[in-house]
Amino acid sequence: MSELRYEGRVAIVTGAGHGLGRQHALELAGRGAKVVVNDLGGDRSGAGASAGPAQDVVEEIKKNGGEAVANPDNVATVEGAQAIVQTALDAFGKIDIVVNNAGILRDRSFKNMTPEEFDGVIAVHLRGSFLVASAAWAHLREQGYGRIVNTSSPAGLFGNFGQANYSTAKMGLVGFTKTLAHEGRKYGIKANAIAPVAWTRMTEDLLPAANADALGVDKVTPLVAYLVHESNEASGEVYTVGGGRVARILVAEGPGWGKKGDLSVEDIRDNWEAINAAEPHTVPANVGEQMGPLIQHLGS
Ligand code: NAD
Repeated sequence: MSELRYEGRVAIVTGAGHGLGRQHALELAGRGAKVVVNDLGGDRSGAGASAGPAQDVVEEIKKNGGEAVANPDNVATVEGAQAIVQTALDAFGKIDIVVNNAGILRDRSFKNMTPEEFDGVIAVHLRGSFLVASAAWAHLREQGYGRIVNTSSPAGLFGNFGQANYSTAKMGLVGFTKTLAHEGRKYGIKANAIAPVAWTRMTEDLLPAANADALGVDKVTPLVAYLVHESNEASGEVYTVGGGRVARILVAEGPGWGKKGDLSVEDIRDNWEAINAAEPHTVPANVGEQMGPLIQHLGS
């Protein structure tokens, strides 16, 4: 089979100074894409800033014979997001691919989480992904082509102790991704999300050190690269990926239970088992499909 290449494509990868984003940028550039390496260069909590990490990755790409430019802006501000997109336009004349990857952690048990800790994490992951995609959207629409990958997390999909802020942002990105997929369909824009597990500075004190190599960032990037390739047909999907394993995450609905006429609290109690049944389930592709069983119920 032929190699997947990205010649003629321009990619923005946010938070590409370290970890997963760095690997995405190296891989795409190594396969012919021109890459904007964005990174604010702060610490794991988002404190501080430095142009160094993005610049270092650009130098690495160039040393390998690739093309890239650095951008040190903050994805969480309107000006920053616009500047990231403008960097791509100035350097390479267009944008084809957006990988929203930048992220920070401000973990705290919910009891102790402050509004500032909540807002700060939402701002980078959720608002930042919105702002960068939003700044790129008109260009993608106009050219009738685009590929977007948003970075969700198992913590968002399933919840995780101490991460009320982070999991809210990460599940928010699932809804965001699915809506972009719907709105982008007629413009050739495909949007998907990943829920990765990898050994990075974000997880080095959370994952067992013995698994550092097995959970390398290189075991996640191939999925991202595939999703942003022109041959990818998937859109609106979420995939969990780590250690070389990839699986589709489903937002599914059980068979449900219903009755006509009045509905009482006791009806709910008495049919709790049927309400909670998971099989047979459906995986609605949009709200219209999700309404199907309700419409059938009303009409039956
Ligand atoms: P990382 O800390 O190595 O990389 C995150 C990068 O984002 C850093 O280089 C940081 O400087 C940059 N960044 C932070 N705030 C920024 C901002 N406002 N503007 C621009 N850049 C900014 O962590 P990572 O593990 O590589 O995380 C990458 C993404 O993957 C994050 O969105 C993270 O939430 C997600 N994720 C990672 C894991 C994992 O197991 N590593 C699991 C689930 C989700």
